[in-house]
Amino acid sequence: MYPAVQLLIDGVWGPAASGKTLNVANPATGEINGTVAHADIPDLDRALAAAQKGFGVWKKMSAYDRSKIMRKAAEILRTRVDAIATLMTMEQGKPLAEAKVETAFSADIIEWFAEEARRAYGRVVPSRVEGTFQLVIKEPVGPVAAFCPWNFPINQANRKICGALAAGCSIIVKGPEETPASLAAYVQCWLDAGVPAGVINLVYGVPAQISEYLIPHPIIRKLTFTGSTPVGKHLAAIAGAHMKRVTMELGGHAPAMVFDDADLDSAATILAANKFRNAGQVCVAPTRFLVQEGVHDAFVEKLVARAEKLNVGNGLEAGVTMGPLANPRRVPAMEGLIADAVAKGATIATGGKRIGNVGNFFEPTVLTGMTTDMRAMNEEPFGPLALVSRFATLDDVVAEANRLDYGLAAYAYTSSHRTVSLLSGRVEVGMLSINHHGIALPEVPFGGIKDSGYGSEGGSEAIEAYLNTKMVSHAL
Ligand code: NAD
Repeated sequence: MYPAVQLLIDGVWGPAASGKTLNVANPATGEINGTVAHADIPDLDRALAAAQKGFGVWKKMSAYDRSKIMRKAAEILRTRVDAIATLMTMEQGKPLAEAKVETAFSADIIEWFAEEARRAYGRVVPSRVEGTFQLVIKEPVGPVAAFCPWNFPINQANRKICGALAAGCSIIVKGPEETPASLAAYVQCWLDAGVPAGVINLVYGVPAQISEYLIPHPIIRKLTFTGSTPVGKHLAAIAGAHMKRVTMELGGHAPAMVFDDADLDSAATILAANKFRNAGQVCVAPTRFLVQEGVHDAFVEKLVARAEKLNVGNGLEAGVTMGPLANPRRVPAMEGLIADAVAKGATIATGGKRIGNVGNFFEPTVLTGMTTDMRAMNEEPFGPLALVSRFATLDDVVAEANRLDYGLAAYAYTSSHRTVSLLSGRVEVGMLSINHHGIALPEVPFGGIKDSGYGSEGGSEAIEAYLNTKMVSHAL
């Protein structure tokens, strides 16, 4: 039931010119699901030509008609949630329920962008001379190269496709080689909705080879990337050398600040759910749990109880609430971070080990007594590790929250309006959510600052990122 995933170029699915494929593994069993076609330069050249042709067609279509196709794609996607989510769980590992939420939510995102597509307004600037008109016109930036990771196989590509298509751009998506089938099935919904050939092209291969070829290419006018900070910096440098527009959604190391006056049950429930969702492989996952001294022990007890209730297993099985890590390499990465922390004085409150020796399963883990010399407090863990340390004052916790170069998401739990107000001004992040998890809805900005990148993949800013501004001044 798992397909041999092909490349989509100019509206047609096909193998790579070389016939090369890569294996796709199931992270819960270690078995090979199937294969994905591996693009090389001749395939990329065809994708570039298709994107150029697709751009010519799509930019000329009215925003009204583009919006209709986008809404149709959302409608079709909703009818295929179960089938697409099953592929996603087989290749990425997340529980089926989470895969279904990601797929259905992607349809909501498409709809929101479809509505906004009709509102990419320009403006008229009052002129100094009678009979002279100054217009500000918004135009699509051109064909886009998008690089998408494996943690949310559909959502990460969807936000890029939606922004690009809403603005009138075409796109070449370099999909995740680890999780290609659910994305391909999602893209089929766009084709069935009537998106013209060449507007969306989908390739897989060696990420470095594809990025180094596409980003400098004269047909490509914009780069968008989601992934780790080191790779993001490398790609942004290539884009800079070729003067290409850039959006970067990079890593995070989110502080979750729990104050003495917080509702502890609510904080523990919401933070645990978001810590262990997708086995912690989420750029906005809470990672540094900074807990005020008065409630530290009570909060740890509640967090540990929630972590221990999780049922880790194959995401296709009923009742499983946390799946395996998506890549085998993430297991030794977790073990290394934990060993380093324990050697420097951390305590394992729960978890800490790999589960079994089949699949990439890892225990939901809570470490206490974390200090800033430990690797895990500095490197993005990207796994099911909750790292707990104590703080005394608001100034102390803000200093720790801002200590790292990351600046993606932060969370806080408090009943003090004053604390809310001070945190809102002082915490250096792109997204701050207080007393609930209010991040990633389509209508609000989604993005980071500092080493977490720049640009937004939500809110009206997400379309602006794919538009050029042209000023036209004319006299009668
Ligand atoms: P990695 O750094 O090897 O790769 C991260 C992503 O970048 C992958 O999707 C990969 O295909 C892509 N990539 C790598 N080199 C590339 C290149 N030269 N050109 C284009 N794309 C390239 O790390 P990994 O082991 O796959 O994932 C773990 C790390 O990645 C985590 O530490 C996390 O920071 C980051 N990550 C972040 C997100 C996110 O949502 N921000 C998603 C996935 C991974």
